[in-house]
Amino acid sequence: MNSDPHGRCPAPGCCNPLPGRFSAFCAEHYFAVDLKTARFVIRMKIERARAKSDAVREHCDYQIAGYVQQALKTMKQPREGQSAE
Ligand SMILES: [Zn+2]
Repeated sequence: MNSDPHGRCPAPGCCNPLPGRFSAFCAEHYFAVDLKTARFVIRMKIERARAKSDAVREHCDYQIAGYVQQALKTMKQPREGQSAE
């Protein structure tokens, strides 16, 4: 059972698989969050892949989790039922 080789999108309520090994979010959410913060997640994932020790990987995991939370806070709410005049 390995249907999502890159893991799942961390956005709440989203179960889309991540499109790539270093993806921060699914394609939909990548454009919904602050791009700069999403890029930090990607950077950290690459750093993690290059890490040579568990300590560095742990540090990267911590950073990734932090940036993911930060990015999710910037997530745009989908426009629904807008009160137009
Ligand atoms: Zn998503």
